[in-house]
Amino acid sequence: MVDCIFCAIAAGDAPSAFVLSTELVYAFRDMRPVAPTHVLVIPKEHIVDAADITSAHGGLLAEMFDVARRVAAAEGLSERGSRLVLNVGPDSGNTVAHLHLHVLGGRRMSWPPG
Ligand code: AMP
Ligand code: ZN
Repeated sequence: MVDCIFCAIAAGDAPSAFVLSTELVYAFRDMRPVAPTHVLVIPKEHIVDAADITSAHGGLLAEMFDVARRVAAAEGLSERGSRLVLNVGPDSGNTVAHLHLHVLGGRRMSWPPG
């Protein structure tokens, strides 16, 4: 996908604070963290957002959530927990049109979100 910053990051063509990489998934630190841990887990293939997920993406989704669990564990969050967020569409505040799972943790979260 041309002109997609997250495709460029996953391909190593744009800088990122590397966290973890697997066959299908890349994880890196959000450049504007909103919690002590704020990592983005993205597919290496271009998918716009969760609304474009189909049953064909089952293996990819499992890998994304496995990476999120491993990131949370590596950040010491297994016991106290974390928040996983997928923003979809304008009302959610989504700003980057490449699927990304936010892994947030290290502070107490409020609910409902703002
Ligand atoms: P969302 O609002 O769900 O679309 O989240 C997009 C996130 O990507 C925001 O938290 C941004 O701070 C983050 N972000 C955008 N560009 C980059 C980048 N080049 N490197 C790291 N994080 C980024
Ligand atoms: Zn992309």
